[in-house]
Amino acid sequence: MHPQFHSLPSIALANNKKVFGNHSFRPNQRVVINATMSGYDVFVLMPTGGGKSLTYQLPVLVCPGITLVISPLVSLIQDQIMHLLQANIPAAYLSANMEWTEQQEILRELCSDYCKYKLLYVTPEKVAKSDVLLRHLESLNGRGLLARIVIDEAHCVSQWGHDFRPDYKELGILKKKFEKTPVLALTATATASVKEDVVQALGLVDCIVFRQSFNRPNLWYSVIPKAKKCLEDIDKFIKENHFDECGIIYCLSRMDCEKVAEKLQGIVECDQTEFGHKTAFYHGNMDAAQRSFVQKQWSKDEINIICATVAFGMGINKPDVRFVIHHSLPKSIEGYHQECGRAGRDGQRASCVLYYSYSDYVSYSENDVDCRRLLQLLHFGEKFDAGNCGNTCDNCSKIKTLVERDVTESAKQLVELVKSTGQHFSSSHILEVYRGSLSQFVKRHRHENLSLHGAGKHLAKGEASRILRHLVIEDFLAEDVKKSDIYGSVSSVLKVNESKAHKLCSGRQRIVLRFPSSV
Ligand code: ADP
Ligand code: ZN
Repeated sequence: MHPQFHSLPSIALANNKKVFGNHSFRPNQRVVINATMSGYDVFVLMPTGGGKSLTYQLPVLVCPGITLVISPLVSLIQDQIMHLLQANIPAAYLSANMEWTEQQEILRELCSDYCKYKLLYVTPEKVAKSDVLLRHLESLNGRGLLARIVIDEAHCVSQWGHDFRPDYKELGILKKKFEKTPVLALTATATASVKEDVVQALGLVDCIVFRQSFNRPNLWYSVIPKAKKCLEDIDKFIKENHFDECGIIYCLSRMDCEKVAEKLQGIVECDQTEFGHKTAFYHGNMDAAQRSFVQKQWSKDEINIICATVAFGMGINKPDVRFVIHHSLPKSIEGYHQECGRAGRDGQRASCVLYYSYSDYVSYSENDVDCRRLLQLLHFGEKFDAGNCGNTCDNCSKIKTLVERDVTESAKQLVELVKSTGQHFSSSHILEVYRGSLSQFVKRHRHENLSLHGAGKHLAKGEASRILRHLVIEDFLAEDVKKSDIYGSVSSVLKVNESKAHKLCSGRQRIVLRFPSSV
């Protein structure tokens, strides 16, 4: 049971206005602030731009002591500190690549009884590797001055997440050493299994979880097959929809970034394609100074478009990013959600366009019927009941001829297959068996011997996967998230919902789906 949190001290309310200039709270901010100020360990899932920072920055104005914030990127930390100092909130940070004398000065301040800092930011490797820091934290704690520990981008703790950082694993030590200090873990991306992993690794106790919808209604999604002239398409898309606006183009490799940036700028002599966009590239092979230069130029609107690998991401809080284009497929749907999440943080309309080719197939982009929003949210275990997002994705707004087809037989077979394999396997495996795959994994489990092996041979991969997904959406099957040593990394296995499945298998319910008429 969640304790009920109603009111915040009036001083907190006043400071929200006075210090942070906010006239109200965003969803969940108030309850999170209240829970952490009441001393609970708290896990917060809030979409990018939801206002996570306030949930630990406001309490420092009310509670005595120092808040320790663990944050993965120095650039992100510097940005935060700049804002805090502007608001007259004393804050400092320690990182491994800082001058030793500077570090010493900050540590000395921490020892003082009148330590001026309200917030101390550190990178995770600092916690993992610096005994000096731990000793100072112990001293603060001993004097009752360690108010709260904040773990930002907490999904980095989990190996099952898309952004695992080994140093985050070490953060479990904090709760061991500072049992009584409340921990606030914040992230914009976590599936159920990642959340479990984080809570366990950090050693959170009776943790209160706040989670809010991951739907971002102001983002418009579309998926476009990648043609040879992809860059022409991108150029046209930007000029028609986002002329002179600011955006990110995610590319796969360092070389792609440079190539795309160069082409869109059109600086290549004797190249007829003069697109004339103000672009720059950003990737992990540039040194820190170059990267921060590019990011600053972009933040100040001196360039419009950054062509980047996923190295560009965390900690970008430019509010008016109007488009995020994926020039190649994201690594996972979680990563995709996160990368798209950088668009439209000001709440205004923004576009997310994914260019894909069949060679880099994922079921999300291959699906050209179901609502994009529904598919993304389903991944986070969230149901998007509306079914149609009001035409803010390409699939919902497509006018195309769909033909209805009764797929009851296939649906029954899929349910049977889930049962006959013991409800231990993922949807992709079930689909493989159903469509007659003879992969090693199939053979290892002798699934080629099942009577339903290959029963769905006549269906296209996309069709079979739509039927299966429909069974999940409509609760005939459930995806059970589970970490398993036997079947590989984290996986979700399909379970049968007996009462619903019985209706289907006994012929009392039929399933009709709409398919594009071309299929
Ligand atoms: P997150 O870390 O969740 O991505 P931030 O903490 O960076 O989000 O906040 C995103 C933006 O929203 C910031 O510009 C912040 O000032 C603003 N913001 C946060 N809370 C509020 C609020 N209650 N009212 C108005 N603006 C807010
Ligand atoms: Zn839609």
